[in-house]
Amino acid sequence: MKAMTPTIAVVVLIQDATLVNRYARIPMRAIVIEDDIDIQQQIVERLKSEGFAVDSASTGDEGLYLVQEYPADVAIIDLGLPEMSGLEVIDKIRDQGNNIPILILTARGRWQDKVEGLDAGADDYLVKPFHHEEMMARIRVLIRRASGWSDSRIVCSPVSLDTATQRTYVDERELDLTAYEYKVLEYLMLHAGEVISKTVLTEHLYDDESDNDSNVIEVFIRRLRQKLDPEECLKPIETLRGRGYRFTLQRAEPI
Ligand code: CA
Repeated sequence: MKAMTPTIAVVVLIQDATLVNRYARIPMRAIVIEDDIDIQQQIVERLKSEGFAVDSASTGDEGLYLVQEYPADVAIIDLGLPEMSGLEVIDKIRDQGNNIPILILTARGRWQDKVEGLDAGADDYLVKPFHHEEMMARIRVLIRRASGWSDSRIVCSPVSLDTATQRTYVDERELDLTAYEYKVLEYLMLHAGEVISKTVLTEHLYDDESDNDSNVIEVFIRRLRQKLDPEECLKPIETLRGRGYRFTLQRAEPI
């Protein structure tokens, strides 16, 4: 019997790893509007490797549709688009009252583009060619700023997490979260006090329609509760029947 024990342990680990791989996604959705297919693909690949769910478009019309249809956290828009220009796309997005953070891509030497883009309502710009590290850093800043944070730490006392190191604490106790659990918690904490529907949470997690099984979210919410609040005295995640979840601990500005 002794020889059986390691075998069982291995099976459990593999099952868990499969779950983590399949669901380990940052609950962030990005929209990329870029007509240069090579550049578009590189950006999409990089964002996906960082765990983003990504939708991409090659024209302004298509991109505008994506922005209207999907609740994304950031849009990366090339200004030099055929037909409807990037500027027009930004104009229309802002005209609709949509405050999605927008990062524009401009061609080298076209400094006027930056000014016009920022005037039209873009939040930041990158001049081509750019390093993907810089793109990711700017995207993280935009998303944090949009959520009211300028620091990499999100604190909903006694829970705190550091988006740069992806470590989570309850007071001084560090939690051992799977990547997916971390991402769900990060999203809930960024929107502390708000009701987050399972649909919204699911849409932020998956870019593949076939993958979006909202029952899985229930499983991970349950695990998060156990890890955050083993004694059930904190009750940090509230379930609102038929409406979704709410992170109940109040968000505080980091020191
Ligand atoms: Ca272009």
